[in-house]
Amino acid sequence: MTPDDLRRHGHRLVDWVADYLEGVGDYPVASRSAPGDVRAALPPHPPTSPEPFDAVLDDVASVVLPGITHWQSPDFFAYFPANASGPSILGELLSAGLGVQGMLWATSPACTELETHVLDWVVDLLGLPDRFRSDGPGGGVIEDSASSATLVAVLAARHRAGGAAAMGEMVGYASAEAHSSVRKAFTVAGFRDDQLRVVDVDEHQALRLDHLRTLVEEDVAAGRRPFFACATVGTTGTMAVDPVRAVAELVVPHGTWVHVDAAMAGAAGVVPELRWVNDGLELVDSWCFDPHKWLFTNFDCDCLYVADRSALVEALSIVPEYLRNAASDAGDVIDYRDWQVPLGRRFRALKLWFVIRHYGAEGLRHHIGRHVELAQGFAARVEVDPRFELVRPAELSLVCFRAAAGDDESERIMHAVNASGRALLSHTRVDERFVIRASIGQTTTEQRHVDALWELLGAAADGRPIEPRLQPDGFPPGARG
Ligand SMILES: *Cc1c(COP(=O)(O)O)cnc(C)c1O
Repeated sequence: MTPDDLRRHGHRLVDWVADYLEGVGDYPVASRSAPGDVRAALPPHPPTSPEPFDAVLDDVASVVLPGITHWQSPDFFAYFPANASGPSILGELLSAGLGVQGMLWATSPACTELETHVLDWVVDLLGLPDRFRSDGPGGGVIEDSASSATLVAVLAARHRAGGAAAMGEMVGYASAEAHSSVRKAFTVAGFRDDQLRVVDVDEHQALRLDHLRTLVEEDVAAGRRPFFACATVGTTGTMAVDPVRAVAELVVPHGTWVHVDAAMAGAAGVVPELRWVNDGLELVDSWCFDPHKWLFTNFDCDCLYVADRSALVEALSIVPEYLRNAASDAGDVIDYRDWQVPLGRRFRALKLWFVIRHYGAEGLRHHIGRHVELAQGFAARVEVDPRFELVRPAELSLVCFRAAAGDDESERIMHAVNASGRALLSHTRVDERFVIRASIGQTTTEQRHVDALWELLGAAADGRPIEPRLQPDGFPPGARG
């Protein structure tokens, strides 16, 4: 493809994406594809001769789009937000255009330095402790996901506690509501299942400190080494918040590495009134959050901070001869290869930089604050409506509720809403009971979308008919021109 062709097709594709985002609210939120539908529409073998770009784009509309669940719809309330934005999409495009491999400072200095700088900005932006800044022993890095952040935190903690040779006696802790990636990190790192202790949760789904204390005391008495503890700020199921400060005060005297997983809730720190989400962070070893969830940055972008980067770098640094260079040897630069599992890395700081500059701290604060307001307004309606029950207070952007009539009714209502294509909700279970989750955090979600969701839930609860939203023709509108 010549640069001129790229320009032509690229303009068209950018138009296409803009049209898509403009019209995405008119489409059924969840894909109606059945297993195998997308593959059945694709030819069994790759093309022998070159195909025109237009033919590819046609198939995007006819084959790919019907198999897409529209995460960018303002009516998307399922799972957690994945709220992309114009500046992040353009940052991603630029990253692809530059095609940089940022494994070392030397392989593209701007890729490393912009990342370090933007991550220091984020310390300001979210009101994080200064120990996470890069000008001391700590610093930040962009990982692909919170799952990877947890894995490298486990590896750094293991290194600090004596390395793989000593791991037989090590034990770690996380609550029953911690993300599955904690268990996965332990498995990947080669620990036995019983080396991750599951701490009970209280009636708010937060880690129970008394149970953690009992487990730690038992382990220490038995000669085991508490090397790692994960506290979650904003659990995936219900946005529960573990007592980070108390967890750190309890385990740090045992030399335990404390990691805080704030994948979704961490973004709340842009709003000064919500900085309670940062409580206790000055005591912990690592912390992460996902701008790819709730900070207008498309996947993938997780910011991981460590208070002292030496354990991380020592745990993960392996230097083959072909990557040796003067800047690295002199120790003058950061080589982010040593802060993650893969060697290669994309220039992800661009999209985060674009987002922060486009919105400014004020813009980000406004949007995150608005999501929280919308969620609290929705929760207030749930609370006073006899058809529904609020399961826990909506402190941030997630509302957990259920039908007063019980589990079957909750499930029926959620399915009726989802089947209409007019909104998408998801669920979890709390104390074995079915709970509907409405996660309010999409970039373009406004009061009217939340009002419409409330109407839908009311209609579903009363058994009134709901007119389904159908996929219009010519999707997305105008993209053909
Ligand atoms: C979503 C989520 C994760 C996993 O995030 P990825 O970035 O997809 O790995 C981990 N922890 C919590 C609390 C989450 O909400």
